[in-house]
Amino acid sequence: IQNEENESQTGTLRWAARTFHNTLESPKGVQGLSYLTEARGLSRAIIQQFGIGYAPDQWDNLINEAKQASIPLANLTELGLTTHHKERGSWYDTFRNRVIFPIFSIGGQVAGFGGRTLDSDPRTPKYLNSPENPLFEKSKLLYGLHAAKDEIRRSESALLVEGYMDVLALHQAGITTAVASCGTSLTRYQAKILQRYTNRVLFVYDADPAGKKSMMAGIDTLVTEGITPFVLELPSGDDPDSFVQRAGKEEFLRYSEKNKQSFIDFQIRFFTQSGNFAQTDVKAKAIRAITHTIALIPDRIRQELYLQELSEKLGISFSSLKELLVIESTMRR
Ligand code: ATP
Ligand code: MN
Ligand code: MN
Ligand code: MN
Repeated sequence: IQNEENESQTGTLRWAARTFHNTLESPKGVQGLSYLTEARGLSRAIIQQFGIGYAPDQWDNLINEAKQASIPLANLTELGLTTHHKERGSWYDTFRNRVIFPIFSIGGQVAGFGGRTLDSDPRTPKYLNSPENPLFEKSKLLYGLHAAKDEIRRSESALLVEGYMDVLALHQAGITTAVASCGTSLTRYQAKILQRYTNRVLFVYDADPAGKKSMMAGIDTLVTEGITPFVLELPSGDDPDSFVQRAGKEEFLRYSEKNKQSFIDFQIRFFTQSGNFAQTDVKAKAIRAITHTIALIPDRIRQELYLQELSEKLGISFSSLKELLVIESTMRR
């Protein structure tokens, strides 16, 4: 029974993705299409490749499409594509006036949707995702991985970004190793998935304080799975989408080559920017935090090498760091 249910759900997901996409290309999708191509600079080719769609500014567009296709309302409801109106006791489309990004499993099956509003009203949430269900666990999915995995393996590196638009803009520019965690902080599970494809991951998160904090947290998650993280900080105010659309592929790669940092350099920079290293307590706190990260690395030899690097860069003896590492390692158990 569980299997039959899953089959009908994947069928409905595929149908919904096709319907959103067909709507985008129909007269009803004019607004969505001009938003994507004109305001956001996406090509028809990338829209096609990633199956991007549109949900019009209407309460029952998908519901009507389902009726015509003889798809039971219950199927939409199970997937969170319709929402219940409690007072009226009726149902309405969950995604309205949004461009729709189907989120694919590694194998390329539609698992759920992310939608970006065209509405500029700050009370409307900018992004909305399908609700969690057994087929759509955001913590286990990486947006773009189905399209990026081969190139990630081949080039032995992945680019980790924050958003759907970042993945799309990078792929469009020919940088096809970009993936994103779908609006959540990076999870152990996602790190494990990445680890199957590569040991080197370059963070390119938004150049704002939230992005920097997320990269700090993400570094710990990645090293725990044996991945070596690198960090690229973009010019202030940029995200990968805005940067690559303005600068182009060659400039992005040049900038990346020039500014890519090791995770230790990024951590040192993060702490020196948030406090004064002339103050002993500030510097001590940073040393402890970075040593904690190194303690998460599963490989002893790499731990030693990073401790050596930290010792040289921060002017603290290797033996003290080693003692600290032992403390940090046991504290985690
Ligand atoms: P924009 O379309 O404005 O360029 P963005 O992709 O740069 O958006 P951010 O605000 O930087 O979006 O957020 C990054 C990612 O975080 C989004 O792609 C989305 O997955 C997620 N996200 C952002 N805002 C929300 C929200 N209100 N609810 C759920 N997820 C969100
Ligand atoms: Mn942001
Ligand atoms: Mn953006
Ligand atoms: Mn962004």
